[in-house]
Amino acid sequence: MLDLYLYNTLSRKKEIFQPINKNQVGLYTCGPTVYNFAHIGNLRTYLFEDFLKRVLEYNKYKVKHIMNITDVGHLTGDMDMGEDKMEKGAQREGKSAWQIAELYTEAFKEDIRLLNILEPSGYHKVTDNIPEQIALISKLEKKGYTYKTSDGIYFDTAKIKNYNKLSHLPLETLKEGARVEKNPEKKNPTDFALWKFSPIGAKRQMEWSSPWGVGFPGWHIECSAISLKYLGKNLDIHCGGADHINIHHTNEIAQSEAATGKTFFNYWLHGAFLNIVGGKKMAKSEDGFLTLKKALIDKGLNPLAYRFADCQVHYRKPMEYSEDNLRQAEQGLDKLWEQVATLGSVKGKIDLDLQEKFVKAVNDDLNIPKALAVLASIFKAKISSADKLATVLDFDKIFGFDLKNSVNYIKGEVSSSALPVKIQELAAARLKARLNKDWKESDKLRDDIKAAGYSIEDTAAGQKIKKN
Ligand code: AMP
Ligand code: ZN
Repeated sequence: MLDLYLYNTLSRKKEIFQPINKNQVGLYTCGPTVYNFAHIGNLRTYLFEDFLKRVLEYNKYKVKHIMNITDVGHLTGDMDMGEDKMEKGAQREGKSAWQIAELYTEAFKEDIRLLNILEPSGYHKVTDNIPEQIALISKLEKKGYTYKTSDGIYFDTAKIKNYNKLSHLPLETLKEGARVEKNPEKKNPTDFALWKFSPIGAKRQMEWSSPWGVGFPGWHIECSAISLKYLGKNLDIHCGGADHINIHHTNEIAQSEAATGKTFFNYWLHGAFLNIVGGKKMAKSEDGFLTLKKALIDKGLNPLAYRFADCQVHYRKPMEYSEDNLRQAEQGLDKLWEQVATLGSVKGKIDLDLQEKFVKAVNDDLNIPKALAVLASIFKAKISSADKLATVLDFDKIFGFDLKNSVNYIKGEVSSSALPVKIQELAAARLKARLNKDWKESDKLRDDIKAAGYSIEDTAAGQKIKKN
């Protein structure tokens, strides 16, 4: 196997990847804040992380992948000021903060499924790991890294060396960045909250007692506590979107290395943004907030078209959202499914020359766009259809386009995984009934599908289902 190179934000260089344990990789990816739906910008980051995980697995590493679910305490301002996003979401929707967390966690998992993203080895809710976070803060307190203000326990960033080792920002710039939200009680502008007190006289929906008083954890401590707990001996790769470099990941490193005295993750990888027109980052609070449903499903596009579009842009390059791009991506994917469907079902041998080109691309800091060109070249290669099929399916371990089911996609039998699960099940049952020539059952299922708001049409290519 060729060496795997990854661009490490710590060194700002591509480095040969070497895990702590020879065959096992610990991967930590910052998870969603579940006060609203994920937007397709967030999903771009989860897709990049999925490609990374699949490339690691293709390189024969066993990957232990941990993701947190931020279900408490993430404030609207990055500098520990502002409202709690969860409680704000609860107010907006007339639900409890716990219900909001549950609702959007499930919605997130559904997005992950629709995009064919591999599930982590474990999702870990922040609210399930409060004692671990308290223990870590106590450790920092004992070592003298903390101080108390009227609103919480803070980490003193002046006590450590290399606070800017990930951001590479001159300390002057960091001070400037903090000007927007000033907290006069902080000793240094870069200090951050480890524990926030519940406001006096007000009961929060989510709060816990602690050695310092009733309150809730600061945002950054969760990722340190959860990754140390589940990946303690395998702190290999930590990922997130590029917006996390200067504050969230910088603070995770500061507090974790202060507490343990050891390096906290050897490789830090960051995905570039999905921007809306004009180069503005897509954000939950801005106008251009597009969910998977709004950007694709409601427009009749298969969510996997977004996966395809993502493959066309390298993860470290900004990507601009446009509906046209998504439509073209869907055409590209449809063509690919068609090409694969013509290869038949007999699998031959993987073509080693093509595979070498493919591995060279993906192992060069995940050059997926180049790997996509290698995939396209398979269909022109002078090899048998059976060998083409074997090669295509091998590459699909990384692309995740569900190419093994290409025939069904072009027949319209999985016409779109965008359909609600219930409709997919009814459609599958109807297909079965028709194959058994059980017309009565088939008609009944058509009525059920109609009652659920969808129409079904039998064409030469199979069942076509549309939302009414
Ligand atoms: P959040 O749910 O806001 O904590 O964000 C979840 C993930 O999405 C984080 O890794 C962010 O860095 C990432 N992210 C946020 N906005 C964008 C964007 N416009 N493009 C790509 N990634 C983003
Ligand atoms: Zn995190």
